[in-house]
Amino acid sequence: MDIKLVARKNNENTIIDLKNTKIGEGFFTIIAGPCSVENKEVINEIAHFLSELGIKIMRGGVFKPRTSPYSFQGLGKKGLEYLKLAAEKYNLKIITEALDEDSLRLVNECADIIQIGSRNAQNYGLLRKVGKLNKPVLLKRGFMMTIEEFLYSAEYIAYEGNKNIILCERGIRTFETKTRNTLDISAIPILKKETHLPIIIDPSHAAGRRDIIPYLIKASLAVGSHGVMVEIHPQPEKALSDGKQSMKFKEFEKTIKEIRELADVLEVKIK
Ligand code: PEP
Ligand code: MN
Repeated sequence: MDIKLVARKNNENTIIDLKNTKIGEGFFTIIAGPCSVENKEVINEIAHFLSELGIKIMRGGVFKPRTSPYSFQGLGKKGLEYLKLAAEKYNLKIITEALDEDSLRLVNECADIIQIGSRNAQNYGLLRKVGKLNKPVLLKRGFMMTIEEFLYSAEYIAYEGNKNIILCERGIRTFETKTRNTLDISAIPILKKETHLPIIIDPSHAAGRRDIIPYLIKASLAVGSHGVMVEIHPQPEKALSDGKQSMKFKEFEKTIKEIRELADVLEVKIK
């Protein structure tokens, strides 16, 4: 059977309303933060920086889906506390990943948006669980998923009752080795035709390198993306995960300025 609940039938668009900000058609929403919450000091420094820039949503992983079991796995519950405290102090909303049922319970208590990662994008049991909750979900595209499979995963969430879904294109696996994944830029206009759900990009996990992130963000805005989720770190060379693809504060600030100008031309509101 075809997708039903998330399929576009008319001109209506789902807008996710987080009170201090919105995600959906007409807006370009910036979400930024570290790959992982590392300690109290760094997450506070990042939260402070974001609030100065007028950014309203901070990301930060605490349950990390690492390729190797020997890599840093995140701070877990403690990290969630640090993330929450920093966000409260600077009046930010938070998004963080739930890896499984146990972490979903904890994340649901703290986060404003629950992230379902690329590796779990076809974990239908977890999709059903998050579908029963009353909280926005950011669903990342699996790195081996077609657009159709991506929409069916969103349909699982909607089928259980939760229609507050944001799709995130984070790059797919191709033969190219210059980037970690290949950002599927054409997925954005295609998804906008086929679904009423908002769609954003994650240029950090797509590229795997910080130098081309500004171009990817601008390209995504030009093709109609509803926002971006990008990794930033005050000292990426010292980051416990994904330092190479985390933007430095200065270059991030410069990019934000540039996309504000581009958004003006396109008559899109930056959130
Ligand atoms: C992340 O955003 O923290 C992450 C692990 O990304 P992905 O699931 O896209 O690999
Ligand atoms: Mn990461």
